[in-house]
Amino acid sequence: MSFVSLDHNATTDPFPEVICFVAEVMAEGGNASAVHAKGRTATGRLETARRQVAALCGGRARDVTFFGSATEAQNALIAHFSDWDFLRPATEHAAILAPREGVETRLETLEDQITGPTLLCVALANNETGVINDVAAYVAIARAAAPPVHIHVDAVQGPGKLPLDFTGWGIDSLALSAHKMGGPQGVGALITRPGFDLKPHIVGGGQERRRRAGTENVAGIAGFGLACALTEISNWHGLQAHLEDGLLALNPEAQIVGQGQARLSNTTCLLTPGKRAETMLMQFDLAGLGLSSGSACSSGKVGASHVLMAMGYGEELARSALRFSFGRNTTQAHIDKALEVYGDLSR
Ligand code: PLP
Repeated sequence: MSFVSLDHNATTDPFPEVICFVAEVMAEGGNASAVHAKGRTATGRLETARRQVAALCGGRARDVTFFGSATEAQNALIAHFSDWDFLRPATEHAAILAPREGVETRLETLEDQITGPTLLCVALANNETGVINDVAAYVAIARAAAPPVHIHVDAVQGPGKLPLDFTGWGIDSLALSAHKMGGPQGVGALITRPGFDLKPHIVGGGQERRRRAGTENVAGIAGFGLACALTEISNWHGLQAHLEDGLLALNPEAQIVGQGQARLSNTTCLLTPGKRAETMLMQFDLAGLGLSSGSACSSGKVGASHVLMAMGYGEELARSALRFSFGRNTTQAHIDKALEVYGDLSR
């Protein structure tokens, strides 16, 4: 029985071309800090990738800094602004919430909350629910404020699902993660506005224009660049409707989180009253389908997701959350299999 992932918001299937290219660049070798020919080849790989990342998000290559993950990139940014006020919606990813105590914001409250220099972090789309934030509306309010505001967008769940427009949005920084878009794990990037000089969060050598010390993961970064070049926006609306109609037909008491809101077409977060996510996940796993819950604790038990709690769902219902997230290779047969398992569970 082959295993099928319906968990592409956790990590995507790498592009086959990226797998080959990473191996090729790894075999090529070379430390990008070395001045000899091999070092120059490695530097060339980094600079090509920088251009490819910049082209995907509409920024400038020289403003792209590579990190070990989007988590690290965003930790570095938050550390840079440690003495500024920090506003972020309560639904942000842990990579934004954990580094520093912040104040919850929403479009309705933002204007009154900007009273001094402020770092504002907003995700383009939520990884658990797929709900899309109105970045343009956040930017309009933040830019109308008198104090300086650094606007950061966590765009990790965007590539391949939504267009990115760093310059057009008028934001100051944007983070991406290679493994969420067909690239390798362990590579992230921060794109910053021209002239912004990020303080290094990790210090040592002078790599990445002194913004992030440590020998670059040349092969991983090269693979990230290729993934950016190969990324095309897909539309899963048909599959999503098939799944959601099917789930609700099998259990009319179930709820789809964010229904009626702007949502990623690859993501469905389902709540089933009276059920626990970990039991259902096990059944899906036994049937060869990989799904995620809202939030996993270290014990393997499913906790109540902070995202769902922030959206006003009760703890018991939040503990039932199942996330289906589609990728390039998802087919209707995969959805039908998921519906079959959910049907058995609902009986
Ligand atoms: N931000 C969002 C919205 C995410 O979904 C994730 C990963 O789940 C991250 C940040 C962290 O990315 P990385 O895995 O590169 O640390």
